[in-house]
Amino acid sequence: MKRRAFLGTAAVGALPLNASAAAPGATVSTKIRRLNLKHTWTTVMSSSDYRDTFFVEFSKDGITGIGEGAPIVRYKESAQTCDAAVKAILPWLAEQDPTQFNKVMADVFRRIDGNWAAKAAVDIALFDWVGQKLGVPVWRYFGLDRNDAPVSTFSIGIDKAEIVKEKVREAEPYPVLKVKVGLDNDEEVISAVRSVTNKAIRADANEGFKSKEAAVEKINWLEKQGVELIEQPLPAANLEDMNWIRKRVHMPIIADESCLHPQDIPRLAPHFDGVNVKIDKCGGLLEGTRMIQIARSLGLKVMLGCMVSSSAAITAASHLSPLVDYADLDGYLLISNDPYEGVRMERGKLILPDRPGLGLKAR
Ligand code: MG
Repeated sequence: MKRRAFLGTAAVGALPLNASAAAPGATVSTKIRRLNLKHTWTTVMSSSDYRDTFFVEFSKDGITGIGEGAPIVRYKESAQTCDAAVKAILPWLAEQDPTQFNKVMADVFRRIDGNWAAKAAVDIALFDWVGQKLGVPVWRYFGLDRNDAPVSTFSIGIDKAEIVKEKVREAEPYPVLKVKVGLDNDEEVISAVRSVTNKAIRADANEGFKSKEAAVEKINWLEKQGVELIEQPLPAANLEDMNWIRKRVHMPIIADESCLHPQDIPRLAPHFDGVNVKIDKCGGLLEGTRMIQIARSLGLKVMLGCMVSSSAAITAASHLSPLVDYADLDGYLLISNDPYEGVRMERGKLILPDRPGLGLKAR
């Protein structure tokens, strides 16, 4: 049988991946969605009632891949700048072969300046498309066992004691809580949590402690309250004081704001016990897996974190969660108008979809 004839017969039920490069271009579209928060969200950095996140849809061969990135103001990006950045490369992107996503994403990184959430949305849309094309969930594509997915924390926003207690009661199904600290009312908030539950608590200071001495004092107090780890006690650029702190406390200290990209990790390794990897910050699942592998090679613990976003971005990150020690992937639970259904939590454990690609369903 001639090769062309063989390909024609084999195409039924097989994967015509070779053919896709020759197929007509994809349809790529962008969208900004306003996600409404269930509770007003307060950190040391901001307070808000909604978040605008950025979506990319990549459609080709009757398959649509969906990607989402949550822009971070601190890194000089917004849903609008992400939208403009991807719109500027749309004609080029529509002609790319998504099965060659390594090459495509390297080029996306060269073509888009900053706008990491935009890169993440493109990367995720490509993985969703390729997973669906191959008929495998993204976790399986990466060779992972979805039973290894960890328990995720559930975040309790900073508020007055009575409201904090109510939020903790609402969080009854989740066995590990995450609490923001680094504000003047840390004692009030942690004591309020402890007055209604004995669950494990992970704390996030978001760079909020005023000095290394204040950090040590507070971390040792937090340990007595049953807090098991803390993120980012000091400002991102302050690495010198981290070892001074680590010599005086027991709990693991995880870098978050200090850790954005793969190249940050080697210089953080001597100063932290672990790193928080966020897909929206690094620019996608490919870059995220690089960060996880680099951190592992340096003996660091790895947390997979998230921004407030829909199930699209959170499910994408969750597909890598079998690789990490700690998951903080509750961002989709904090909104009231999630357009998708994907990853679920059962008693906090992440349950990854077994459907191809991200495994999203429209709500
Ligand atoms: Mg953090």
